[in-house]
Amino acid sequence: MALEQNTSASGDTATRAYPDLNLYIDGQWLAAAGRDTTAVLDPASGQIIGKLPCASTEDLNQALAAAQRAQPHWAALPAFERAKILTRAADLIRERLEFIAQVMTYEQGKPLREARIEVAFAADVFTWMAEEGRRAYGRVIPARHADWRWTALQQPVGVVAAFSPWNFPATSPARKLAGPLAAGCCCILKAAEETPATAIELTRALQDAGLPTGVVNLVFGDPDAISRQLISSPVIRKITFTGSTAVGNHLASLASAAGKPATLELGGHAPVLVFDDVNVAATAEMAVASKFRNAGQVCTSPSRIFVQRRVHDAFLEHFVSHTTRLHMGPGHLDSTTMGPLANARRVHAMRELMQDALESGATCHLGGTAANGAGNFWPATVLSSISPDARLLHQEPFGPVAAILPFDDESEVINRANALPYGLASYLFTRDTDRCLRVSNALQTGLVGINTFVLNGPETPWGGVRDSGYGREGGIEGLASYTTTKFVSQGPAR
Ligand code: NAD
Repeated sequence: MALEQNTSASGDTATRAYPDLNLYIDGQWLAAAGRDTTAVLDPASGQIIGKLPCASTEDLNQALAAAQRAQPHWAALPAFERAKILTRAADLIRERLEFIAQVMTYEQGKPLREARIEVAFAADVFTWMAEEGRRAYGRVIPARHADWRWTALQQPVGVVAAFSPWNFPATSPARKLAGPLAAGCCCILKAAEETPATAIELTRALQDAGLPTGVVNLVFGDPDAISRQLISSPVIRKITFTGSTAVGNHLASLASAAGKPATLELGGHAPVLVFDDVNVAATAEMAVASKFRNAGQVCTSPSRIFVQRRVHDAFLEHFVSHTTRLHMGPGHLDSTTMGPLANARRVHAMRELMQDALESGATCHLGGTAANGAGNFWPATVLSSISPDARLLHQEPFGPVAAILPFDDESEVINRANALPYGLASYLFTRDTDRCLRVSNALQTGLVGINTFVLNGPETPWGGVRDSGYGREGGIEGLASYTTTKFVSQGPAR
């Protein structure tokens, strides 16, 4: 374990741990020596905190061979035994929670309290999938003759190539690994190059829990080269990706050309419908907490907040007031409630979206320009009076920018909410139970929150429709995604 002296953006000095970065292939940790490397940066200071080895073509061939060798053994291991290993891994993640959370904050930037919640969630994902894997029931189908037996069996789909992003460095790899592993599939995970150490620590927990060699392989490097090599390999039977719609569609076309199924968790542009019968202050407070969690770098982040005209101004006032109470800073400080953006690309994107919104007439109530000094700091920003043509209302913001928009009636706001091609998450706030039913039926998203922004648990299905992707992680669907149905028809022996 390397110890780094880090001077944070706020000027204080802290001793912070960051693990050595390695690939994990065929049960071996492979170091940077002799390989290309890429730098990992602390988004709060811009300083280099690690050197990440990039997998070569040969490394990937070894990972494919290892997964291929391990696949029949892992699939044949009773689900009960697989569950023991995954449960042990979950327990180890809980034991190591504080260290993993610190590492995550260091490489991704989010406040420590958010990182701790995320690591606990990742452990729960392994626990839940371990249990659910034991319930991958098939069924007995009444056969056409008394001495026949018809059964439908759930079998592992085979080796999975998984690609996880940088915004949830623990939750996303946990979802990508737990479902396939519980179903009896081996995995090659390419986790995000910007947040590798969290994925390394989850993999280490699996290794320490007794996961057999080759069942999980963890690689980093050139995303395009890695995805092309893995997806075209006959060893890979399924892909799963979380990230932008553009990259997801590209990977889906590679998978489709190779005749392989995909689960895609892509971008969103979540509408929030606030009707005028709610407690405006309480709803605004909840919306602020949800909007600025992980500095808005969340695919389900509320990004178009429609407020019925009668309460629009009051909502805006409460929203701005609650936003001023946020404290932006390096994630490891107790006082911080919003960290930096995870990479400089997001700062650049915020700058462009802001300039476009202001040029088209938006009013900026808070924030709006990058903070001075080191790190990728962009303050919580609140905009109103935004032109319908502003890019902010069409392109996924993926940052700490809230757009508050007035509406007049229910059918109008449903049409506006559904107007974008995205379909991941939507939220509605009202006390009218008939309206809850009508509006939640009409919203074209895979996830709907009614009077809440809480949408995910290990036991609930997670995913979108339309340009937000297809397939589900989490819940019983998240296990089914990695199984295939085999029908067996048995007649009497002659
Ligand atoms: P990006 O589109 O370049 O990358 C998104 C993710 O895909 C990253 O993790 C990246 O490593 C990976 N990736 C890129 N090219 C790849 C390839 N050819 N094969 C395999 N993986 C590949 O964008 P970015 O700048 O990292 O993020 C910007 C946008 O991505 C955001 O605006 C947001 O829309 C989206 N995003 C969504 C999620 C999500 O949770 N759905 C997470 C991260 C990013």
